[in-house]
Parts: sequence; structure tokens; C-alpha cells
Amino acid sequence: MAVRASDLDPSGEHHGGLPTWPWRYADPGLHTRRQLRALGLRPGGQEPAAQVVCRKGRRIAYLYRIDQALPVRPMTPGRAAALDRAMAARQTCPLCRTRYDACLPLKTLGSCVPCSELSDDERDQLAALTSA
Ligand SMILES: [Zn+2]
Repeated sequence: MAVRASDLDPSGEHHGGLPTWPWRYADPGLHTRRQLRALGLRPGGQEPAAQVVCRKGRRIAYLYRIDQALPVRPMTPGRAAALDRAMAARQTCPLCRTRYDACLPLKTLGSCVPCSELSDDERDQLAALTSA
């Protein structure tokens, strides 16, 4: 998929300060209203943290922070498990597959801190190991 520069604007420089990603490239901790709803959550009054652009810029969707979202209804075990899976995406390093207790700086580092200090060669070796 080709990424247009105008759609990849994580700092929001070209979009009035609202961080902007192409569809499917956004931070895993950010969800659209529909995705939050599927997890039993609602934005809860927060402002959109970012937006995604899809269909060549003809459609945008606002993204909300999942850690500021509120439950639509009381938590159930099934919903808690779904939320846990969503949080796992923010807490699991995509390189070494380690899950941490805290959210990782995926937006800036793209991995956990130890992995971010690896050389490109070491990352390739790690990727080969974890994808096997
Ligand atoms: Zn890692």
C-alpha cells in the first residue's frame, strides 16, 4: 500500500495539530469510536487524540485514547478480556514479543527500550527468531 506523505503526519503539522496517520498505521492505543464500542467502551468526553485518513483522504476517522475511554456498561469477564487484548497491543513489544506492565513508547520508539537500542542487524535477527 502506498502511503501519501500528506496522510502520514504523526505530529499533526499539516492537520492543525491533530496527529494524522493513514488507515491501519495508527498507534495501537488509539481506537475509533466504533472500535471502542466493540470493546464496550466509549470516548468518555475526551477530545480526539488523532485521526486516520482512508480511501485516499476522502474519509477520516477520529481516534481516541483507550486508557481514557469509559465503559459503556459495567465490566464483564468477556469485556475485560477484550480490553486486556487491546491493552496487550500497547504493552507488547513487536520485536521481542515481551509484554510489559506499562504501555510502551511505540509511537516514538516502535518497540521496548532494550529493542530500540539494537542495531538494524540485531533487529533483523530478532525478527527472524520471533516470527519463526
Ligand atoms: Zn523488545
